[in-house]
Amino acid sequence: THFGYESVSINEKEGRVRQVFENVANDYDVMNDFMSAGLHRYWKDELLRMTGVGPMSKALRRRASMKYASDLNNNNDDDDTIDDSKALLSILDVAGGTGDVAFRFVDAANCEERSKSSGKDEVNVTVCDINPEMLRVGESRARKRYGSALFDETCALKFVEGNAQCLPFEDNSFDLYTIAFGLRNVTDVDMALRDALRVLKPGGRFLCLEFSHVQNVPLAQLYDIYSFHVIPKLGEVVANDRDSYQYLVESIRKFCTQDELVTRMKQLVSKV
Ligand code: SAM
Repeated sequence: THFGYESVSINEKEGRVRQVFENVANDYDVMNDFMSAGLHRYWKDELLRMTGVGPMSKALRRRASMKYASDLNNNNDDDDTIDDSKALLSILDVAGGTGDVAFRFVDAANCEERSKSSGKDEVNVTVCDINPEMLRVGESRARKRYGSALFDETCALKFVEGNAQCLPFEDNSFDLYTIAFGLRNVTDVDMALRDALRVLKPGGRFLCLEFSHVQNVPLAQLYDIYSFHVIPKLGEVVANDRDSYQYLVESIRKFCTQDELVTRMKQLVSKV
């Protein structure tokens, strides 16, 4: 590779990833805006849209409710059949860092309004990340944004330290698993995919938002210039940390292609 990243061993990679995100935690959100010209917000909004979570996401509530009631054969479309007390959608955002994706779920489901009025939420969201610094920044953003009710009263939003490869959760715990710009940082991707399958309930959904390989040739050339020269320079100038941002660029290059990832996922699922 251009920067000799390939020679890094597995344990070294884990240590390096930890170090990178520890270094960037405080500037992470500002840098995200800088590096993507705000585009990461749009991508995350798209992820949210694909999950269908919203204030009145009745279809999802119905699905969750039916599952909790072990009533998978019940195709009744009548809203009155929803048992609200059980219609909680549990969402796990892995490598959730400073909470950007989780906040979208909370906002979309209007958790904070519901907590105030009824003490009940339609979703509960768990942010899991390996890096305590990223989680610390995330939790402090969340407290500023929502106050403490979400944490201390309803536990609708939680920040949990954990590794995507061996998540600290029971089997079949979540309806939705999201991982945004996280999978390429994990040392053993297959292990993380297997663990995603383990913690998801039967019929649960896995959504991965990740950078990959640019297939359009002129665009790929532009992207090369941008990623090799502009991103590390931005890291140096804005966050005073060229190396960490160089790592981010390399990790994107080294990550598998879209098709390879799909194949790996299919292989895992076929073995279950
Ligand atoms: N998802 C957030 C977002 O989109 O803004 C943060 C993405 S950030 C590029 C990557 C995150 O992955 C970091 O917070 C890092 O600590 C986390 N991470 C790296 N390896 C991990 C692992 N093995 N398990 C869990 N999180 C990991």
